[in-house]
Formats: sequence, structure tokens, C-alpha cells
Amino acid sequence: MNFQRADVRSIRSVAILGAGTMGSQIAAHMANAGVPVLLLDLNVHVAKEGLERTRKLKPEPFFTTDVPKLISLGGFDQDLDKISDYDWIIEAIVENLQKKKTLIKAVETHRHPTAIVSSNTSGIRVSTIAESCSDNFRRYWLGTHFFNPPRYLRLLEVIPTQDTDPSVVEKIKSFANYSLGKSVIVARDTPNFIANNIGLHGIMRTLQVLENGNLTIEEIDAITGPVIGRPKSATFRTIDMVGIDVLSATVKNLSDRLEDDADRLAFSLPPFIQKMLERDWIGEKSGQGFYRKTISPNGSEILVLDPVKLEYRTKLVPHLDRLEATRHIKAPSERLRALFLGRDSIGDFMRATLGSTLVYAATVAPTIAHSIDDVDRAMHWGFGWNLGPFEIWDVIGIENVLTACEVVTPPQLIGEILERGRGNVHSNARFRKGLIDPEASDPQLLRKAKNSLRIVRTNPSASLVDIGDGILALEFHSKINTIDLDTVQMLSDAVKEASKHFCGLIVGNDATNFSAGANLVHLLENIQESRWESIDRMVRSFQSANTGLRYAHVPVVIATSGLTLGGGCEIALHGYRVQAAAETYMGLVEVAVGLIPAGGGVKEMLVRSIETNNTLLSLQSTFETIGFAKVSSSGPDARRLGYLRTIDGFTMNRQNLMVDAKTLILSCLNKGYHRPQSNYEIRVGGESSLAALKLGIHLTWRAGRISDHDASIARKLANILSGGALAHPTSVSEQYLLDLEREAFLSLCGERKTQERIKHTLTTGKTLRN
Ligand code: NAD
Repeated sequence: MNFQRADVRSIRSVAILGAGTMGSQIAAHMANAGVPVLLLDLNVHVAKEGLERTRKLKPEPFFTTDVPKLISLGGFDQDLDKISDYDWIIEAIVENLQKKKTLIKAVETHRHPTAIVSSNTSGIRVSTIAESCSDNFRRYWLGTHFFNPPRYLRLLEVIPTQDTDPSVVEKIKSFANYSLGKSVIVARDTPNFIANNIGLHGIMRTLQVLENGNLTIEEIDAITGPVIGRPKSATFRTIDMVGIDVLSATVKNLSDRLEDDADRLAFSLPPFIQKMLERDWIGEKSGQGFYRKTISPNGSEILVLDPVKLEYRTKLVPHLDRLEATRHIKAPSERLRALFLGRDSIGDFMRATLGSTLVYAATVAPTIAHSIDDVDRAMHWGFGWNLGPFEIWDVIGIENVLTACEVVTPPQLIGEILERGRGNVHSNARFRKGLIDPEASDPQLLRKAKNSLRIVRTNPSASLVDIGDGILALEFHSKINTIDLDTVQMLSDAVKEASKHFCGLIVGNDATNFSAGANLVHLLENIQESRWESIDRMVRSFQSANTGLRYAHVPVVIATSGLTLGGGCEIALHGYRVQAAAETYMGLVEVAVGLIPAGGGVKEMLVRSIETNNTLLSLQSTFETIGFAKVSSSGPDARRLGYLRTIDGFTMNRQNLMVDAKTLILSCLNKGYHRPQSNYEIRVGGESSLAALKLGIHLTWRAGRISDHDASIARKLANILSGGALAHPTSVSEQYLLDLEREAFLSLCGERKTQERIKHTLTTGKTLRN
């Protein structure tokens, strides 16, 4: 046995073997991270087809259309020797032990002696795949289980075998965290690892209840969705998305590898699933599964499966009185407790499904995971559960779970807690924490500062928090972080406070979304009451707050993530720098609600178009970006659209965003912060550029691509971008452009069609093209 730590190379290139559903998407995400990828399948044609399929997937696996250029293709038949140049080799071929073993043996002969090799298997014991490989190979061998879709699902299960060198595990963990944006759980090498094992158990119980016929598919989905803190797709829509074929293969995989008869029985699929497979009713990919969408002359309709008759019927609105009765309970955890303990059909369902899975999780946790916290986190990050199984044990109470589920002999882990007296799982279980450093996966910069009472100022929509090292953070906390008067007030206060007492300011938060834009409810109320002066004041304050960000005496970094729309995008445009999460969906979307950006957004985009390329062509593309309310599909895509600049930074892992923003601001300070020069002149094209833009608008309108109202908004936008009715190209002040924005905004507020658009968006969440 060699006790020297393995010599592990930095991961600068990755080879992926298998270009199917997972291999191609993992390749896409590696390329998103800027890593050159070699993607191989049986032959180059199969690899090419796999990549082509991936390009068409929704949601998009690639950050931008340029990213696939980083992927080279090849076949095992001709190109396997090329893997010798790659630092990490990932096997992602069909879930078949013998095929995987044969391929890995071939990999052993070609790989560089210090390259890491891993398998993406979802169920096979990782050690068995490489059991006939050399000692040296097995030191670099482990499981890396990505979840589908790999770009979007946060969990990566890392499965070392007993031979894997710890430095190999460390290298993969840190690469996964910082370069791929994944949160890692180290799992034990057991069939199906952690998340799929627990998740599948719950699904199996649910399928059995469905078979008993007590509840319908839509009723079960109503119970197992957001009401109890789970994703909107709940149980059956999720299965349709994953594919019933994939579900059945994974279940079979697991049950084949289980040693205990009772466990195997728990993982056997009901007969109606086999019939669905025979008919190819396997979910979204075949157009029907538990649900089917039909298009008729009267519009589209969602049908739902009757699992007994195996026929589709009209989807009904579930009438579950008790579910309705618990809607007033705000916290999903409290609602879950009430439903679980209820003496009715929902309670019966919850105990038969979730209750059984809670007991199962407590039974298997010590064999599959390194801690109960890891089990909880795997369910948060892999299945989108708000509460993991052990958190649920505590929410409901140990005694309550045992009594309600009529458990005679509690699992050992629970028995030990009971022996030590009453209490909850988390304060008692010895089996806690796990192999991840929670700090590394969730640095909690803001939360920690708030917990240590370092809140400098607060109002209902925003707070100023001292996050240490002389940096002030401005956190929004209104609903979806919409911008209202309180937010705007805090933006101005933040600049004043930071300039007086701090060295830098970060505008950012820990939420999924940076900001969904201006609070349209307030705006519409003002419009309906004809409070034009108040709207005028509001716009002026927002413009002045944004200008304040730009010309602050200290550097301002805007940390964006998720929705960064409308006013949220305008705030980002005024930062000294932006640190954007890779999953940032940024756009000036005001035109979609019949308005125009008036917080300096048009002015800033004009400045950018001049900075990058002083031609009419770039003005035209800026005009289209705002005019068509284009939203980026990722952070890097926001750069393509001109919302972000090359000097702005990206963070792959949302959890690290605030820390990276702080590092960026400190590095700006180290290099010497040069406050941007205020009141500079902006070159505009005047009448000639306005005429060109208007011609484009007219042609698009005549081609029927935009409505009359779209054309009228577009002309106002063109007017601002050209600097208004100026006879010649000339230079104008920032304030001049801000005034044009404000005038256009106010005049549009008075238009009936704009008001209809705002109302429509507020009531349906969609846009109206009237
Ligand atoms: P897939 O069927 O979409 O792709 C498998 C690829 O392997 C195909 O491109 C095929 O050409 C290639 N292949 C077939 N036979 C081969 C052989 N003998 N030698 C080499 N290559 C061969 O499968 P997938 O869904 O991408 O799954 C790949 C791996 O990832 C499996 O181990 C699976 O368990 C695991 N996984 C899948 C998912 C998922 O949701 N699909 C999620 C996590 C893990």
C-alpha cells in the first residue's frame, strides 16, 4: 500500500465518454465553465448526434451559442488514445456493469498516470467497475454523480471507494464548487447513493397509493408540491419530465443490487407502470405519461391518466378540503406537520408515503451517507425539497412520527436518541455534519453579519449590513425584491453611508433573484389615481439613486443572480463593476409592459454601445435589445447582449456570489479606485440616426412583427437613443438623456394600452402584445 498522497493535476481539460443524455450535457456544462472538452461515443457520428440533440434541449444546457466551440468530438473506435491529454475523464455510457468495465479497462491503458477517472453511474457500486484495474488506477478512480439537468441541478454526489486517494476527492470537490457551481455531498459507495435512494423510496410508496385508488394523480400532485415545500412539478409531473423509462431502469438497478428481500419488495414497480412502458407512455419525451397535453380547435387541454383503466381523462381541480384549510398556515413546515398528523385521507396518504420514507431514511442513513445532514442536503439540492427527511422528523416530532406511523421497533439511529431521553434528531444524533465543509458550500456572508447584529439601517424593503473589512452591503428583501420607494431611499442612503464610514458598497442578496424590477402594483395605483407628480418624483429619485451609485466616492459592486429585470437591471448597469452569478437572467423588459427604462437604463446602454463600437449598427442592436425586451439566458449571455461588460466578473456557484463580490471590491481598492468622471458628454446621432431607426421600426411594423403600440413605444425609445430632435450629431449631458427617458416614461403611463399591459402582467404573470 502506498501512503504517499497522490500527485493530482489541476483540472484544465475534461474528456467525457458517452454522448447520451448525461454525457453531452455534462460536456456542455464543462464548456460553460470554460474548460476544453473531448466528447467521445461509439464513433464520431454518434457523438455528433448526441451533441446536436443537446443543443436543442430546453432549458438550454449552454450559457451562450459560442460555448459548444470548446467541445471536440470523437469515437472510441478511433480516438480513445486522445484521452491521454486530459486531466479528468468521466465515464457516462449506458448503465451496464460489463460495458462500463470493458471501457474503463481500455481507459486505463490510455490515460495519463495522474489523470482522475470517474463514473457518472447512478446505481452501480463504483468500486466494482474498476475492480480489475491496477492499484495506481484505483487511487484516481471515484464516482461523480451529476443530476439531470447538470447545468441546473445543484447537487453533485461524489463517491470515493476505499482506494480513492483523499487528494483526488479534494480536487474534485473544489473544482465542482468553484468551477462548476455544484454543491458536493460525499456519499458512501452503495447502490443509488443518497438522493436517488431516498427519493425513489418516496416515489415507490406514492405509486403504490395511486394503485390503491384512494387519491388521483392531480390530488397527489396538489399535496406533494409547494404546499409541503417541494417543487411545483410535485410527484407525477417530475416523473414525466425525468421519463418513466429512466425511473423504471433506476428502480430495477437498485432492486437488483439490494440484498434484503423486504427491501427488494419495497422497490418493485406496480404492474400499470410496465403497461405504460409497453405503450411508450413514458412522459414528456413521448408526449404522454401521467399527463398528456392535447391540442384541439378549442385550445390546448391537459389530460390525466386513470391508472386503473389506463385511459386519459380530463384533468379535474382537486377538492381537498383539508389542504385548503391549511393554506392559511404560512410556513410550509407547519403546514406539512398539520397535514401529516391529520386524521383524514391526506394524513393517511402522508403517513403511508412520507412517513414510511422517514423511517426508511433513518434506517439506511448510516450505510449510505456520512451524516444525517448530508442526507438532508442531498434532498434539498438533488430533489428540491425545502426540508430533508431528518428536518421533517424534527418538525413533526420523533414520538409523533413513530405513533402516527405505528412503528413498533424504531430504526437504531432513532432508538439511540430515544434512549438518551426526549429530544429532537438534530440536537441528539451523533451521526451529524458529514464530510463536506458547510462553510465552503454555503459561506453565508450576509446571514452571519445579520445574525451578529451588524445591521446598520433597515426598512421594509431593504437593509444595510456591515459585512466586515470595511464593506457595506445593501440587501433587498421585498417580495421577489421588487423596487419601491423604500428600496430607492435605501439606495441613496447606502451611497451616503458607504462614502462616510466604509471603503466599498455591494448591492446584493442571498435570494434566488436579485430583483424582478419596479413594483408595478404601486405604479398602477398611481396611474389609476392620476398621481402624475408622484410618478415623476419616483422616477427622478430612482434616476438620482442610480447616478449616485455610479459616482460614489467608494467602489460599488452589484452582485446579480436569477431575475435581474427592469429597474434591477438598471441598478446593475450603474455599478462600478458587476459580479454576476452564472445563472443571471438580465434584461431591460420595460417595453413588455408598455413602458421604457427610465432609471438611466437607456442612457447606460447608449454609453455602452458607443464604448464598444461607434457605429450605427451597434446602436441598432442596442435599440433591438431594449425594444424587444431581450433577457439573457445566463450571465455570459448578458455580456453578449451588452448588459455586462468584459470587466464584469462571473461566479459559477450562487453560494459564493457575495464572497466573490467582496473579493472583487477589495481588489478594486487594492489597485486604487478611480471614481468615474461625472457630467461627461455623450455623443448622439440626432435626426439622421433617428430617421434610420424609425425606418427600421416602420418596416418591422409593416411586416406585421410589431403592433401599433409597440411601434409607438419604439419611436420613443429611438428618440432617446438619438438624443431627440437635434439637427446634427452632437454631444449631450447625462441629465439631458435622463430627462428624455422620464418624459417618455410619463407619457407612456398615460396610455390606455400601456395600462392594459401592466394590468395583464400583474394578473397573469405574462406579457400582453396589444
Ligand atoms: P444514454 O442512453 O442517453 O446514453 C448512453 C450513451 O452510451 C449513448 O450515447 C450510447 O451510444 C453509449 N453507449 C451505448 N453502448 C455503449 C457501449 N457498449 N460502450 C460505450 N458506449 C456505449 O444514457 P444516459 O442517460 O446519458 O446515462 C449515462 C450514465 O449516466 C448512466 O450510467 C446513467 O445511469 C447515469 N445517469 C443518468 C441520469 C439521467 O437522468 N439520464 C442521471 C444521472 C446519472
